[in-house]
Amino acid sequence: MTKIIDGKAFAAEIRAEIAREVEKIKAAGEQIPGLAVIMVGDDPASAIYVKSKEKQAQEVGFLSTVIRLPAETSQAEVLDVIDKLNRNPDYHGILLQLPVPAHLDKDALIAAISPKKDVDGFHPENVGKLWYSDREHQTAIPCTPLGCSLILERYVGSDLNGKNAVMIGASNVVGKPMAALLLRMGATVSICHSTTLDVAEYARNADILIVATGNAHLVKASWVKEGAVVLDVGINRLADGSIVGDVDFEAVKDKTAAITPVPGGIGPMTIACLLKNTLTLRKTKALSSNTNTE
Ligand code: NAD
Repeated sequence: MTKIIDGKAFAAEIRAEIAREVEKIKAAGEQIPGLAVIMVGDDPASAIYVKSKEKQAQEVGFLSTVIRLPAETSQAEVLDVIDKLNRNPDYHGILLQLPVPAHLDKDALIAAISPKKDVDGFHPENVGKLWYSDREHQTAIPCTPLGCSLILERYVGSDLNGKNAVMIGASNVVGKPMAALLLRMGATVSICHSTTLDVAEYARNADILIVATGNAHLVKASWVKEGAVVLDVGINRLADGSIVGDVDFEAVKDKTAAITPVPGGIGPMTIACLLKNTLTLRKTKALSSNTNTE
Protein backbone atom coordinates (compact mmCIF):
# COMPACT_ATOMS: atom_id res chain seq x y z
CA MET A 1 0.00 0.00 0.00
CA THR A 2 1.53 3.27 -1.11
CA LYS A 3 2.08 5.93 1.51
CA ILE A 4 1.67 9.49 0.24
CA ILE A 5 4.08 11.47 2.38
CA ASP A 6 2.51 14.62 3.79
CA GLY A 7 5.41 17.08 3.84
CA LYS A 8 3.12 19.93 4.84
CA ALA A 9 2.00 18.17 8.04
CA PHE A 10 5.57 17.02 8.85
CA ALA A 11 6.88 20.56 8.35
CA ALA A 12 4.14 21.92 10.66
CA GLU A 13 5.27 19.44 13.36
CA ILE A 14 8.88 20.62 12.99
CA ARG A 15 7.82 24.28 13.23
CA ALA A 16 5.71 23.56 16.33
CA GLU A 17 8.69 21.82 17.95
CA ILE A 18 10.92 24.82 17.14
CA ALA A 19 8.32 27.26 18.51
CA ARG A 20 8.24 25.30 21.78
CA GLU A 21 12.03 25.48 22.04
CA VAL A 22 11.96 29.24 21.41
CA GLU A 23 9.38 29.61 24.18
CA LYS A 24 11.76 27.82 26.56
CA ILE A 25 14.67 30.02 25.45
CA LYS A 26 12.55 33.12 26.09
CA ALA A 27 11.32 31.82 29.46
CA ALA A 28 14.95 31.30 30.50
CA GLY A 29 15.68 34.92 29.54
CA GLU A 30 18.16 33.81 26.88
CA GLN A 31 18.76 35.23 23.43
CA ILE A 32 16.21 34.20 20.76
CA PRO A 33 17.46 32.83 17.42
CA GLY A 34 17.98 35.48 14.73
CA LEU A 35 17.76 34.93 10.97
CA ALA A 36 18.80 37.50 8.38
CA VAL A 37 17.94 37.00 4.70
CA ILE A 38 19.67 39.08 2.03
CA MET A 39 17.77 39.47 -1.21
CA VAL A 40 19.35 41.31 -4.15
CA GLY A 41 16.99 42.34 -6.96
CA ASP A 42 13.33 41.51 -7.35
CA ASP A 43 13.08 38.04 -8.91
CA PRO A 44 9.35 37.27 -8.42
CA ALA A 45 9.81 33.60 -7.38
CA SER A 46 12.53 34.61 -4.88
CA ALA A 47 10.28 37.37 -3.50
CA ILE A 48 7.59 34.74 -2.71
CA TYR A 49 10.09 32.38 -1.05
CA VAL A 50 11.63 35.20 0.99
CA LYS A 51 8.22 36.37 2.20
CA SER A 52 7.41 32.81 3.38
CA LYS A 53 10.77 32.48 5.12
CA GLU A 54 10.26 35.82 6.90
CA LYS A 55 6.69 34.96 7.95
CA GLN A 56 7.49 31.46 9.19
CA ALA A 57 10.58 32.66 11.08
CA GLN A 58 8.42 35.27 12.85
CA GLU A 59 5.73 32.69 13.61
CA VAL A 60 8.14 30.42 15.49
CA GLY A 61 9.33 33.42 17.51
CA PHE A 62 12.67 34.21 15.83
CA LEU A 63 14.13 37.62 15.25
CA SER A 64 13.63 37.73 11.48
CA THR A 65 14.99 40.38 9.12
CA VAL A 66 15.03 40.64 5.34
CA ILE A 67 17.54 43.02 3.79
CA ARG A 68 16.24 43.88 0.33
CA LEU A 69 18.86 45.42 -1.94
CA PRO A 70 18.31 46.88 -5.42
CA ALA A 71 19.32 44.70 -8.42
CA GLU A 72 22.20 47.04 -9.28
CA THR A 73 23.90 46.70 -5.84
CA SER A 74 27.64 46.14 -6.29
CA GLN A 75 29.65 43.16 -5.06
CA ALA A 76 31.44 45.41 -2.54
CA GLU A 77 28.13 46.66 -1.15
CA VAL A 78 26.73 43.15 -0.68
CA LEU A 79 30.02 42.08 0.93
CA ASP A 80 29.69 45.01 3.31
CA VAL A 81 26.17 43.91 4.33
CA ILE A 82 27.44 40.35 4.90
CA ASP A 83 30.37 41.63 6.95
CA LYS A 84 28.05 43.66 9.21
CA LEU A 85 25.75 40.66 9.73
CA ASN A 86 28.74 38.40 10.45
CA ARG A 87 29.67 40.75 13.29
CA ASN A 88 26.11 41.36 14.56
CA PRO A 89 25.46 39.07 17.56
CA ASP A 90 21.67 39.31 17.10
CA TYR A 91 21.81 37.08 14.00
CA HIS A 92 22.80 33.43 14.18
CA GLY A 93 21.88 32.56 10.59
CA ILE A 94 22.59 34.49 7.39
CA LEU A 95 21.04 33.44 4.08
CA LEU A 96 21.81 34.89 0.67
CA GLN A 97 18.71 34.31 -1.47
CA LEU A 98 19.65 32.73 -4.81
CA PRO A 99 19.79 33.44 -7.65
CA VAL A 100 21.64 36.76 -7.38
CA PRO A 101 21.92 39.14 -10.38
CA ALA A 102 24.50 38.03 -12.99
CA HIS A 103 27.03 40.82 -12.25
CA LEU A 104 27.55 39.43 -8.72
CA ASP A 105 30.03 36.65 -7.88
CA LYS A 106 27.70 34.30 -6.00
CA ASP A 107 30.46 31.93 -4.85
CA ALA A 108 32.54 34.78 -3.39
CA LEU A 109 29.48 36.10 -1.53
CA ILE A 110 28.68 32.67 -0.07
CA ALA A 111 32.31 32.25 0.98
CA ALA A 112 32.15 35.65 2.75
CA ILE A 113 29.37 34.47 5.09
CA SER A 114 30.85 33.27 8.38
CA PRO A 115 30.78 29.42 8.32
CA LYS A 116 29.27 29.63 11.81
CA LYS A 117 26.31 31.64 10.47
CA ASP A 118 26.00 29.86 7.12
CA VAL A 119 22.41 28.70 7.63
CA ASP A 120 22.18 27.15 4.14
CA GLY A 121 25.31 25.03 4.63
CA PHE A 122 26.73 26.24 1.29
CA HIS A 123 30.03 27.69 2.58
CA PRO A 124 32.99 25.60 1.24
CA GLU A 125 34.06 24.81 4.81
CA ASN A 126 30.62 23.37 5.62
CA VAL A 127 30.45 21.51 2.29
CA GLY A 128 33.75 19.88 3.24
CA LYS A 129 32.45 18.92 6.69
CA LEU A 130 29.37 17.36 5.12
CA TRP A 131 31.46 15.08 2.87
CA TYR A 132 33.94 14.42 5.65
CA SER A 133 30.99 13.22 7.79
CA ASP A 134 32.26 15.52 10.53
CA ARG A 135 29.07 15.29 12.61
CA GLU A 136 30.64 16.75 15.72
CA HIS A 137 31.47 20.06 14.05
CA GLN A 138 28.64 20.01 11.54
CA THR A 139 26.40 23.01 11.87
CA ALA A 140 23.87 23.66 9.13
CA ILE A 141 23.07 21.04 6.49
CA PRO A 142 21.60 22.33 3.18
CA CYS A 143 17.87 22.72 3.84
CA THR A 144 16.27 20.70 1.02
CA PRO A 145 18.53 17.64 1.48
CA LEU A 146 18.04 17.92 5.25
CA GLY A 147 14.26 17.83 4.70
CA CYS A 148 14.62 14.75 2.47
CA SER A 149 16.80 12.98 5.03
CA LEU A 150 14.28 13.66 7.83
CA ILE A 151 11.56 12.13 5.63
CA LEU A 152 13.77 9.10 4.97
CA GLU A 153 14.49 8.72 8.70
CA ARG A 154 10.78 8.72 9.44
CA TYR A 155 9.51 6.55 6.58
CA VAL A 156 12.46 4.22 5.93
CA GLY A 157 14.75 4.55 8.95
CA SER A 158 18.09 6.24 9.54
CA ASP A 159 20.03 3.11 8.57
CA LEU A 160 20.16 2.69 4.79
CA ASN A 161 22.81 -0.05 4.84
CA GLY A 162 22.46 -2.35 1.86
CA LYS A 163 20.01 -0.03 0.07
CA ASN A 164 20.61 1.40 -3.39
CA ALA A 165 19.94 5.13 -3.50
CA VAL A 166 19.84 7.00 -6.80
CA MET A 167 20.03 10.80 -6.87
CA ILE A 168 18.95 12.28 -10.21
CA GLY A 169 20.38 15.81 -10.33
CA ALA A 170 23.82 16.91 -9.16
CA SER A 171 23.48 20.57 -8.18
CA ASN A 172 25.36 22.11 -5.25
CA VAL A 173 22.03 23.02 -3.65
CA VAL A 174 20.26 19.65 -3.81
CA GLY A 175 21.90 16.71 -5.60
CA LYS A 176 25.46 16.76 -4.25
CA PRO A 177 24.65 17.44 -0.57
CA MET A 178 21.81 14.90 -0.76
CA ALA A 179 24.22 12.28 -2.09
CA ALA A 180 26.58 13.02 0.83
CA LEU A 181 23.73 12.51 3.32
CA LEU A 182 22.61 9.25 1.67
CA LEU A 183 26.18 7.99 1.85
CA ARG A 184 26.35 9.01 5.49
CA MET A 185 23.14 7.04 6.14
CA GLY A 186 24.81 3.91 4.75
CA ALA A 187 23.25 3.73 1.27
CA THR A 188 25.12 2.80 -1.89
CA VAL A 189 24.72 5.97 -3.93
CA SER A 190 24.60 6.71 -7.67
CA ILE A 191 24.42 10.32 -8.83
CA CYS A 192 22.90 10.89 -12.29
CA HIS A 193 22.99 14.17 -14.18
CA SER A 194 22.27 15.59 -17.61
CA THR A 195 25.05 13.68 -19.39
CA THR A 196 24.41 10.32 -17.69
CA LEU A 197 23.68 7.62 -20.26
CA ASP A 198 20.40 5.80 -19.59
CA VAL A 199 19.27 7.46 -16.35
CA ALA A 200 16.21 5.15 -16.38
CA GLU A 201 18.44 2.11 -15.98
CA TYR A 202 19.98 3.59 -12.80
CA ALA A 203 16.55 4.62 -11.50
CA ARG A 204 15.13 1.11 -11.94
CA ASN A 205 17.79 -0.17 -9.53
CA ALA A 206 16.86 2.31 -6.78
CA ASP A 207 15.34 1.36 -3.43
CA ILE A 208 15.39 5.09 -2.75
CA LEU A 209 14.98 7.47 -5.69
CA ILE A 210 15.40 11.22 -5.22
CA VAL A 211 14.82 13.51 -8.19
CA ALA A 212 15.86 17.18 -8.51
CA THR A 213 16.31 18.22 -12.15
CA GLY A 214 13.64 20.79 -13.02
CA ASN A 215 12.11 18.59 -15.80
CA ALA A 216 8.35 18.09 -15.45
CA HIS A 217 7.36 14.40 -15.28
CA LEU A 218 10.85 13.16 -16.22
CA VAL A 219 10.46 9.98 -14.16
CA LYS A 220 7.96 7.53 -15.67
CA ALA A 221 6.39 4.43 -14.10
CA SER A 222 8.78 2.21 -16.11
CA TRP A 223 11.75 3.91 -14.34
CA VAL A 224 10.61 2.92 -10.85
CA LYS A 225 11.24 -0.34 -9.02
CA GLU A 226 8.23 -1.92 -7.28
CA GLY A 227 8.30 -0.89 -3.59
CA ALA A 228 10.78 1.99 -3.99
CA VAL A 229 10.64 5.17 -1.89
CA VAL A 230 10.48 8.20 -4.21
CA LEU A 231 11.17 11.78 -3.15
CA ASP A 232 10.37 14.44 -5.75
CA VAL A 233 12.20 17.74 -5.22
CA GLY A 234 11.35 19.27 -8.61
CA ILE A 235 9.07 22.29 -8.93
CA ASN A 236 7.82 22.95 -12.48
CA ARG A 237 5.10 25.33 -13.60
CA LEU A 238 3.12 24.06 -16.58
CA ALA A 239 1.55 26.28 -19.26
CA ASP A 240 -1.85 26.03 -17.49
CA GLY A 241 -0.26 27.47 -14.32
CA SER A 242 -0.29 24.20 -12.35
CA ILE A 243 2.78 23.09 -10.39
CA VAL A 244 4.14 19.58 -10.90
CA GLY A 245 7.24 17.69 -9.88
CA ASP A 246 9.94 15.83 -11.81
CA VAL A 247 8.07 12.55 -11.24
CA ASP A 248 4.91 11.55 -13.09
CA PHE A 249 3.14 11.20 -9.73
CA GLU A 250 -0.15 9.65 -10.90
CA ALA A 251 1.59 7.02 -13.03
CA VAL A 252 4.30 6.21 -10.50
CA LYS A 253 2.57 6.34 -7.11
CA ASP A 254 1.03 2.87 -7.06
CA LYS A 255 4.40 1.20 -7.65
CA THR A 256 6.02 2.87 -4.65
CA ALA A 257 6.11 2.09 -0.94
CA ALA A 258 6.10 5.83 -0.26
CA ILE A 259 6.22 8.97 -2.41
CA THR A 260 6.16 12.75 -1.92
CA PRO A 261 3.63 14.78 -3.91
CA VAL A 262 4.30 18.17 -5.54
CA PRO A 263 3.17 20.51 -4.12
CA GLY A 264 2.94 19.54 -0.45
CA GLY A 265 5.97 17.23 -0.23
CA ILE A 266 9.56 18.44 -0.07
CA GLY A 267 8.78 22.16 -0.57
CA PRO A 268 7.31 22.84 2.91
CA MET A 269 10.09 20.78 4.52
CA THR A 270 12.75 23.08 3.05
CA ILE A 271 11.65 26.19 4.96
CA ALA A 272 11.03 24.17 8.14
CA CYS A 273 14.64 22.95 7.85
CA LEU A 274 15.88 26.52 7.40
CA LEU A 275 14.26 27.32 10.76
CA LYS A 276 15.73 24.13 12.25
CA ASN A 277 19.20 25.15 11.04
CA THR A 278 18.82 28.65 12.52
CA LEU A 279 17.96 27.14 15.90
CA THR A 280 20.93 24.75 15.62
CA LEU A 281 23.29 27.67 14.89
CA ARG A 282 21.88 29.60 17.85
CA LYS A 283 22.47 26.61 20.14
CA THR A 284 25.95 26.02 18.72
CA LYS A 285 26.75 29.66 19.42
CA ALA A 286 25.52 29.32 23.00
CA LEU A 287 27.61 26.18 23.42
CA SER A 288 30.78 27.76 22.05
CA SER A 289 30.26 30.88 24.24
CA ASN A 290 29.87 28.64 27.33
CA THR A 291 33.02 26.71 26.58
CA ASN A 292 34.90 29.83 25.53
CA THR A 293 36.12 28.35 22.29
CA GLU A 294 35.45 31.44 20.18
P1 NAD B 1 19.92 22.85 -11.14
O1 NAD B 1 19.42 23.34 -12.47
O2 NAD B 1 20.97 23.61 -10.43
O3 NAD B 1 20.45 21.36 -11.33
C1 NAD B 1 19.72 20.40 -12.07
C2 NAD B 1 20.50 19.10 -12.08
O4 NAD B 1 19.72 18.15 -12.79
C3 NAD B 1 21.84 19.19 -12.81
O5 NAD B 1 22.81 18.41 -12.13
C4 NAD B 1 21.56 18.58 -14.19
O6 NAD B 1 22.70 17.96 -14.75
C5 NAD B 1 20.49 17.56 -13.83
N1 NAD B 1 19.58 17.27 -14.94
C6 NAD B 1 18.89 18.14 -15.70
N2 NAD B 1 18.16 17.49 -16.63
C7 NAD B 1 18.37 16.16 -16.43
C8 NAD B 1 17.90 14.98 -17.05
N3 NAD B 1 17.06 15.02 -18.08
N4 NAD B 1 18.35 13.78 -16.58
C9 NAD B 1 19.23 13.72 -15.55
N5 NAD B 1 19.71 14.81 -14.92
C10 NAD B 1 19.28 16.01 -15.35
O7 NAD B 1 18.62 22.68 -10.25
P2 NAD B 1 18.40 22.56 -8.65
O8 NAD B 1 18.63 23.89 -8.03
O9 NAD B 1 19.08 21.36 -8.11
O10 NAD B 1 16.83 22.31 -8.67
C11 NAD B 1 16.25 21.19 -9.29
C12 NAD B 1 14.75 21.25 -9.17
O11 NAD B 1 14.40 21.20 -7.79
C13 NAD B 1 14.10 22.50 -9.73
O12 NAD B 1 12.82 22.17 -10.23
C14 NAD B 1 13.95 23.39 -8.51
O13 NAD B 1 12.89 24.32 -8.64
C15 NAD B 1 13.63 22.36 -7.46
N6 NAD B 1 14.00 22.75 -6.09
C16 NAD B 1 13.04 22.55 -5.15
C17 NAD B 1 13.33 22.84 -3.84
C18 NAD B 1 12.27 22.57 -2.81
O14 NAD B 1 12.32 23.11 -1.75
N7 NAD B 1 11.31 21.70 -3.11
C19 NAD B 1 14.57 23.35 -3.47
C20 NAD B 1 15.54 23.52 -4.47
C21 NAD B 1 15.24 23.20 -5.78
